[in-house]
Amino acid sequence: MLKINEIKKSFGKKAVLKGISAKFPQGKTTVIVGPSGSGKTTLLRSLDMLVTPDSGTLDFDDLHLDFAKPISNKENKELRDKTSMVFQNWNLFPNLTILKNITASPIFVHHVAKEQAETNAHNLLKEVGLDEYADAYPDELSGGQQQRISICRALAVKPEYILLDEPTSALDPESEMMILKMLERLAKEGQSMIMVTHNMQFAKDAADKILFVENGEVEFDGAKDAFFSQSSIRVKEFLQGIS
Ligand code: ATP
Repeated sequence: MLKINEIKKSFGKKAVLKGISAKFPQGKTTVIVGPSGSGKTTLLRSLDMLVTPDSGTLDFDDLHLDFAKPISNKENKELRDKTSMVFQNWNLFPNLTILKNITASPIFVHHVAKEQAETNAHNLLKEVGLDEYADAYPDELSGGQQQRISICRALAVKPEYILLDEPTSALDPESEMMILKMLERLAKEGQSMIMVTHNMQFAKDAADKILFVENGEVEFDGAKDAFFSQSSIRVKEFLQGIS
């Protein structure tokens, strides 16, 4: 189980995370929502140290990180090995084929045998109906197809948690639907996921837990049903404002 305690992060004088504590249950989907600029991406990135918090702690099974102290490369790698990030704009390597995009990390970071990594990659590609593109380059694929590949790439390292930062916000509605269905299927299979999204329908359909972040603080932390039937005025205002 991944949990954080009193995470703080400032950029210059701006306090962006003001002491966030939360648990992200294993095998569940946690959806992080909140107004624009509230610190959602910074929080998500803190979970795999793409952003290093100024203070607070992170516990992941027997890994304990105290951000007030220097984090060693070994600790950083241990955390990164347990997580995999999917970005808003997919960020595939443009000069590598689809197959190589998916196998690069298993082979070069996790030392999986090439043949095994390729078999696994083909299986993932078949699951998303894109195996015929294995030898193509990213710019030969649509945005929605590239995002499906980037989710395959994240899954290829068999992470304990997949972290997704607004994975559908740069997509057309049809591609968005396809990605959300894929994520719903992963959620049903018990893949642990933490996702920042503005898509409340996805949150309603697939989330187990909602974290509502506002102004760098947790405004709500609990089950999805409790969130959507919330009596808190602020949550109601937020839900009305975006629907
Ligand atoms: P959105 O929903 O609009 O994507 P968000 O809730 O994900 O927003 P963040 O991206 O975490 O919010 O940003 C929170 C605040 O931190 C913003 O004011 C942003 O400008 C600032 N910020 C984020 N990253 C940096 C950075 N690397 N340097 C300086 N300021 C930053």
